[in-house]
Amino acid sequence: MAILSEVPYKSESLKLLINGKWVGSESEESLPVMNPATGRQISTVPFAVKEEVDRAVLSSQSAFEKWRDVPLPERVQYLFKIKNVLEVHLEDLARINTQNHGKTVVESRGDVRRMIDNVDAAISAAYTLLKGGSLDQIAAGIDEETVKEPLGVFGIICPFNFPLMVPFWYLPYAIVSGCTVVVKPSEITPLPMAYTAELLEKEVKLPPGVINVIHGSRQTVESLIAHPLVKGVTFVGSTNVGRSIYKLAGEYGKRSIVQAGAKNYILVMPDADIPFTVESCNSSFFGNTGQRCLAGANLMVTTDAHKNVLERMTERAKAIKIGNGLDESVEMGPMVSKNAKARVASYIEKGESEGAKLSLDGRKVHVKDYENGYYLGATIFDDVEPGMTIAKDEIFGPVASIMTVPNLDAGIDRINKSTNFGNAASIFTSSGHNAREFRRRVQAGNIGVNVGVVAAMAFFPFGGMRDSFFGVLHGQMDSIDFFTDRKVVITRW
Ligand code: NAD
Repeated sequence: MAILSEVPYKSESLKLLINGKWVGSESEESLPVMNPATGRQISTVPFAVKEEVDRAVLSSQSAFEKWRDVPLPERVQYLFKIKNVLEVHLEDLARINTQNHGKTVVESRGDVRRMIDNVDAAISAAYTLLKGGSLDQIAAGIDEETVKEPLGVFGIICPFNFPLMVPFWYLPYAIVSGCTVVVKPSEITPLPMAYTAELLEKEVKLPPGVINVIHGSRQTVESLIAHPLVKGVTFVGSTNVGRSIYKLAGEYGKRSIVQAGAKNYILVMPDADIPFTVESCNSSFFGNTGQRCLAGANLMVTTDAHKNVLERMTERAKAIKIGNGLDESVEMGPMVSKNAKARVASYIEKGESEGAKLSLDGRKVHVKDYENGYYLGATIFDDVEPGMTIAKDEIFGPVASIMTVPNLDAGIDRINKSTNFGNAASIFTSSGHNAREFRRRVQAGNIGVNVGVVAAMAFFPFGGMRDSFFGVLHGQMDSIDFFTDRKVVITRW
């Protein structure tokens, strides 16, 4: 099958979008931006300095002062325009996402679809969730109402693995509420959001400053949180960084939503439909090259089903076609970076040294014509014990750890006790009783029943518990309440 053409993108240093203008950064710090399928540099990302962060926040603040007064039906019209622009450019966005992240173009199209779903959900929320409530005659001659008001400028800090979808878990809800945003994409995959912002700037023409985009890492993020005009921050990324963001926001008395790391268990009961389960697990463990916070990591199988599942999983994983994600027949793209590949390979060594048995070793994969890409094949460990490093740490790569468990109770107990993460957990079963027990007793924010990737649609909050989440309100629909506050008005005439 032919490889799709790349979206042409200038390779110079990325600019910052401040107050509706693309400006070069003064920073001396930068990173090369790579195409992980080819190992070629495709751009350079600067790390914005404090003065640039300040300028972005000030522009967001002055935009906010006018934007909050734009009538809601008009703000909604901008979202319709955003939706249309994203629909028209879906294919380009998907390809540029693949060029920078490495995931397959089919997976990238899914990211863009989820991105647009969040615009749809924000449009519907505008007319429902933003509405306050009122009660007449709450006491003699007294009426009482709540009105929702936008809070101001928010920072949106993004991870590398969903460069388009994750910013849109928040951005449409913030702007339809009347807030303004400063988006900070991942320094590893900054291109897709930069490309999106260029499209919106050219074709939607929001007032300058409603959406600003800055680049950078720790210093840039800390300057953003510290700025007195920033009301709060959303963060999606690893648990260690997330915890520090949550603390820092707390020290400044600011709101934060922190969606963090994961180590997801999947439990297969003997009554499950095994061929269906294996197919679902294959996409859960190896989709997005395992770089997904909802990816399966530990596969617990009851003793009777173990041999069957192990053999079928290994056969299926061996058949995965690996390569450049712009080839539509490819099922698994490269790891996002050389470092990420090396980190996962070192976990595979650790697994071997701690006594787990390799049933499939992805380190030997070779992709013709792409010798410099960061490829790693699907890897399956058997005989994994819950105390092993590979069973405990978030590996964030295409590695499945298979372990046995005697029954449902032991499986639930292991999920709750052997990890502090609580992002997602799934059960495969044909028993309603098993499913119900699992749903009620497992401490994770996204629960799957015969579903391997528990990705909530935009109309639902994106769940997360324990060390996978810090805060109260979640991404997607929930975030409307994050960006607004309620004022109670009591009236007597
Ligand atoms: P990361 O924590 O390394 O980086 C996330 C963001 O934080 C980036 O924008 C980065 O520039 C910034 N950052 C990095 N170090 C920082 C510091 N010390 N101070 C302030 N900001 C800093 O995460 P990543 O590697 O980009 O993404 C992968 C992680 O994200 C995984 O742990 C995955 O589970 C998690 N994730 C979670 C969800 C969820 O909904 N729970 C969704 C997607 C990804």
